[in-house]
Amino acid sequence: MRGRYWSLKMGVRKHPSAVQLELPGIGEKAETIGSVLDLTADDVERLKKKRPKALGIVCRRSDCERNLHCFDTGDTKYAGGSCRSCGVDLIDWSVVRVRSLADVEMKFNFFDQEWIRHFFFHVPITSRIEAYARKHGYNGLGQVTENQLEQPKMLRYMPALDYNQTAMLDGTIVHWGRHATACCCRACMRYWHDIPLDHELIREDIEYFKQLVMRYVRFRLPDLGRYSKSPVNGSTVQEARAS
Ligand SMILES: [Zn+2]
Ligand SMILES: [Zn+2]
Repeated sequence: MRGRYWSLKMGVRKHPSAVQLELPGIGEKAETIGSVLDLTADDVERLKKKRPKALGIVCRRSDCERNLHCFDTGDTKYAGGSCRSCGVDLIDWSVVRVRSLADVEMKFNFFDQEWIRHFFFHVPITSRIEAYARKHGYNGLGQVTENQLEQPKMLRYMPALDYNQTAMLDGTIVHWGRHATACCCRACMRYWHDIPLDHELIREDIEYFKQLVMRYVRFRLPDLGRYSKSPVNGSTVQEARAS
């Protein structure tokens, strides 16, 4: 159902004056994205060629005035789990960290309060993103998700490979879902899902993250099942309609 996560906070309502894309320069430098809510699908396809950092799409970004924070307190002065920039304490970690989909709506609403995850919950779906998703269908995307999570750099924390290695705008709906649900890298898994860096991911971890990503896919592309070209068994179609 399309409206399932409509409770996701829409920054545009709270901040009607959200600035348009700032375009202070030409070429590669300085095209910082103000609010994701100002982006069009065409913008996404144009900007995907640029480095995420040059666009300001970075993990620890916060925009606290628009209620978009970063909860990786790390070595800041604030208590663990609060915003590293303003110290606000908004997340019920006992809900986020339970390995169940029972409260997945609530979890998504918590993810949506962090700048980087809010970005991927709201970035416009482009025809490229949709075409890829349709080509693979729900089952195929589930397999793609699993394969990505089983890469050695995800199973075990590798400092040189972590953090910046998961595709952003130029990725697929699976990459977007991984950013949105904080299984994009081990650094994000650590503070959102309480998975220590020295823990080697096990099957249950991978299965849980796969389910989270697939819920994201269903939220962003609720009609996917209907158009899927890949073989879909009856239960998957039913599942897709029921959720
Ligand atoms: Zn903040
Ligand atoms: Zn990450």
